Amino acid sequence: MKHFPVFLSVEGRRIVLSGGGEAALAKLRLILKTEARIEVFAPAPAPEIVAWSEENRLTLHRRALAAGDVRGAVLFYAADEDSAEDARTAAIAESEGVLVNIVDNLEDSRFITPAIVDRDPVTVAIGTEGAAPVLARAIKADLEARLPATLGPLARIGKAFRAVADILPMGRTRRDFWSEYYFDTGPRAISEGGEHGVRPALEALLARHRAAPGNRPGHVAFVGAGPGDPDLLTLKARKALDTADVVIHDRLVTQGILELARREAILIDAGKQGFGPSMSQGEIDALIVAHAKKGAQVVRLKGGDPTMFGRLDEEIDAVENAGIAWHIVPGITAASASVAAIGQSLTKRQRNGAVRFLTGHDMKGFADHDWRALARPGEVAAVYMGKAAARFIQGRLLMHGADRATPVTVIENASRPDQRILSTTLGQLPGDLAQGISDGPALTFYGLAPRAAQAALSQVEQELA
Ligand code: SAH
Repeated sequence: MKHFPVFLSVEGRRIVLSGGGEAALAKLRLILKTEARIEVFAPAPAPEIVAWSEENRLTLHRRALAAGDVRGAVLFYAADEDSAEDARTAAIAESEGVLVNIVDNLEDSRFITPAIVDRDPVTVAIGTEGAAPVLARAIKADLEARLPATLGPLARIGKAFRAVADILPMGRTRRDFWSEYYFDTGPRAISEGGEHGVRPALEALLARHRAAPGNRPGHVAFVGAGPGDPDLLTLKARKALDTADVVIHDRLVTQGILELARREAILIDAGKQGFGPSMSQGEIDALIVAHAKKGAQVVRLKGGDPTMFGRLDEEIDAVENAGIAWHIVPGITAASASVAAIGQSLTKRQRNGAVRFLTGHDMKGFADHDWRALARPGEVAAVYMGKAAARFIQGRLLMHGADRATPVTVIENASRPDQRILSTTLGQLPGDLAQGISDGPALTFYGLAPRAAQAALSQVEQELA
């Protein structure tokens, strides 16, 4: 280790920087996060630096650095992007006994600035001794994604609560309390009620741990698993899977996603097959409630977004009636993944300012909708569970005057390796569907063609005109 990482106390002390261009800006953006007094020497400062000085965030001297300017500072940055000038200013700082960093000159620098993940007061510093800045950036990006943005406020609020929580016996009880706060109660309180909700949640958590140490009540997270590609899971969904005791999933959830569940978690397949459910909704409700009542952290994992055609409300009612706490983690719905697969937008100026989400069948069979409205030119609809209902939907739309040539696109297994796209028209839909699509989940776009097909179509129209 050629460089030793330390956290330097800079509150109220001076950090001096020479330079007014891009390199200076990059360093200043970092230094401005600190509580140091910042002084900049630049004959021609960038407008941002002038603005910061007007906001009193730093002191700007519109001249070159001279002897005596750095005395008493804790750090000095030579950021003029001119090796002669950097050498001159660095020599001044050195002679005044201040630690020097010369931008892009590792050799002559006395210290280097790490890549920083800032969740103040939690700070992660990453250094590679200048060997691989790309690697440092990749590690930073990884940590940025992994550490919740709310970690900073949680740590601040937690710190202020430490003395109160010291009432808990030291050791395991206290550790369990804090771990539940940082990884469960805290993030949830912040996402539900903002920072104001955290203190009351902490107090309730403390009361519970005092009454029955380690006794955690059950909880149900209704989590969207997205369309199938594990990379399309949200970070929140991944975290929920990471901490689940029980995962109850439906048929749409792919193996790759189930593998992300905590190793010790119990996996239960509540998969429903088309019209004939293999487990009734009542049985699923009862299953969720039974596990949560035993104190389990239950993840109810649903394909796509749980709020879309997922009978979510029935499950929430059951959980709520049992007095169990719950929350929803949204997911990427099939329509979003499917429209991405065909390179289109769900809405488009001058084409469709609205889009309908329809189900092809409901509990009573084929679902009825406002076909007359949908049959008007330019309408777009995403039809879920529409395969079996294709002929029925076609019939209703044609009956209400829809054009047989209206584009229809069916996307099967959107976002998965076996994704298939069928581009057809309302007139051809049932026949083409039977030939082109197999038995994976499929979403039907009415009024939308793949971007490429659409371009070819307008080309033909232009040539004919
Ligand atoms: N909650 C889910 C939808 C459940 S209804 C969501 O938000 O996506 C089930 C229907 O969703 C399927 O019949 C199919 O129409 C659609 N679907 C789900 N996953 C899909 C996928 N990967 N590709 C295409 N359609 C999909």
